[in-house]
Amino acid sequence: MGSSTSNVDLLIIGAGPAGLTAACWAAQYNMSTRIIDQKKGRTETGHADGVQSRSLEILESFGIVDSILKQGIHDVDMSHWSTNNETGKIERRRRYEQNTEKRSRFGQILLNQGAVEQVFLDHLDDKDVQVERHSVAEHLHLFPADIDEGEQFPVVVGVRCAGTYGRGLVRQYRPHARVFLTGDAAHTHSPKGGQGMNVSIQDSYNLIWKLGAVITNGADPSILETYDSERRPVAEKLMDLDELLVQAYEKEENDTSSGIYEVREKYAGFMAGVDVTYSHSTLIAKRKKDDDLNVARNIELGMRLPSFLVVQMCDGVPLHLAQKLTSNGWWRILVFPGDLRQPARMKALADCSDYFSKRSHLAHLQRIQIPERSSPNVESLLIQSCPRGAVNLLDLPELFHPFDDILGWDYWKTFADDNDQAYNGYGIDKEGSGCLVLCRPDQHVAWIGSMEDTADLDQYFSRLFPSRREKAITKGGIGSFGQQ
Ligand SMILES: Cc1cc2nc3c(=O)[nH]c(=O)nc-3n(C[C@H](O)[C@H](O)[C@H](O)COP(=O)(O)OP(=O)(O)OC[C@H]3O[C@@H](n4cnc5c(N)ncnc54)[C@H](O)[C@@H]3O)c2cc1C
Repeated sequence: MGSSTSNVDLLIIGAGPAGLTAACWAAQYNMSTRIIDQKKGRTETGHADGVQSRSLEILESFGIVDSILKQGIHDVDMSHWSTNNETGKIERRRRYEQNTEKRSRFGQILLNQGAVEQVFLDHLDDKDVQVERHSVAEHLHLFPADIDEGEQFPVVVGVRCAGTYGRGLVRQYRPHARVFLTGDAAHTHSPKGGQGMNVSIQDSYNLIWKLGAVITNGADPSILETYDSERRPVAEKLMDLDELLVQAYEKEENDTSSGIYEVREKYAGFMAGVDVTYSHSTLIAKRKKDDDLNVARNIELGMRLPSFLVVQMCDGVPLHLAQKLTSNGWWRILVFPGDLRQPARMKALADCSDYFSKRSHLAHLQRIQIPERSSPNVESLLIQSCPRGAVNLLDLPELFHPFDDILGWDYWKTFADDNDQAYNGYGIDKEGSGCLVLCRPDQHVAWIGSMEDTADLDQYFSRLFPSRREKAITKGGIGSFGQQ
């Protein structure tokens, strides 16, 4: 037993997949964090062993997927075995082929939960974040916000050294304005769908960038309401899936029905974690007019942006667009100008970049190149439809090859669709007038518009980041907690 008080932005209780993802994301925002766990170490054996496509995409965006891919087994084929009631022998009932390629460039990887946790722990270690072990959060006392004249919000968490195991948290996403539940603390179910670890990682991935935006970038705190509105429907669908799967497994014990296969087929995209589309909210714009549907026919507002192979203009290196959407807290405006050999398209691009660079709220957001506690970073990436060699990179507006006093020229923001994947995949007409797509820091599509819709995009940001909020949610920290 001991006592310690500290000022931190974030106290994470539990170092399972949900807590570790949260700590990892928080570190990207330079949020100060304490993470405690009652256990003496990470999961050693058992629990989850399937890492789904979307979780792998998230791990890639943190730069830590390679170790998982290297250690794991690629799941291409799955069999279902059960007892034959007549012979009493265990038999293979069915073989399922995993067909994930069309949904994500990552399939499913089989790797035990402990190894996945270790990858997070190693990464956190590099960031100087360590889990405080043998610490049980026993009670939580939240002082009213106005107790302090400053902008700190004390939180007292009674912590004792761990002797027993067990969890006692209620099932609500946000039981208090400053308390959020993620992962198994918010939803539990059978392991039949192999979803628990994955949905836990994805819950934290959804929540923490919003906290980061509020705490470090001055975003309007109302965006935190979208954590519940975006993730609760996912959990509800997960419950439906789990019920169907349990019923199907029970049925298949007794006959040779193909119920399991059918459920898995129906929910395949959801189970892979990629078919999760968030509804309209303060963070997800509404389609404005029918015309917008035509600018990017295959991009739905709220979906996680699928990735396609493009070619880097400066050096011809092919890469997946998602590799440029790393999880560093930046918003990305993907600019699809169409065929830049056409003077009209080049002019539209110049006008659009001029707006971004000089006249708007966006201009301010884009100027800051290094993430820090001030403004969100908005990065513009350009994907042109004409061949790479047809346009000279240096003839493009400087927004797409900017200069930074410390980092020098950045030539890695422009791409050509030389593999014919991106424009077709997103449903954008190569010969058309192009479009703009805004991705949130978690790669979900927040806004879509034409090349001329810059003022509307500007308004989107001015609503979320009303001003240089001197009074962000807190300056010094979101609370302090004592160890007794
Ligand atoms: C047999 C089995 C098979 C499974 N198979 C799969 C699968 O194939 N795929 C899949 O995705 N999922 C699977 N799961 C589910 C998966 O293990 C969980 O969903 C996942 O661990 C949830 O992560 P979490 O971080 O939310 O919670 P946990 O992993 O439970 O982590 C919570 C952490 O919080 C700590 N803690 C709890 N209370 C306190 C407190 N008061 N103070 C301090 N620390 C505290 C705990 O010690 C724990 O380390 C399986 C689970 C089981 C049991």
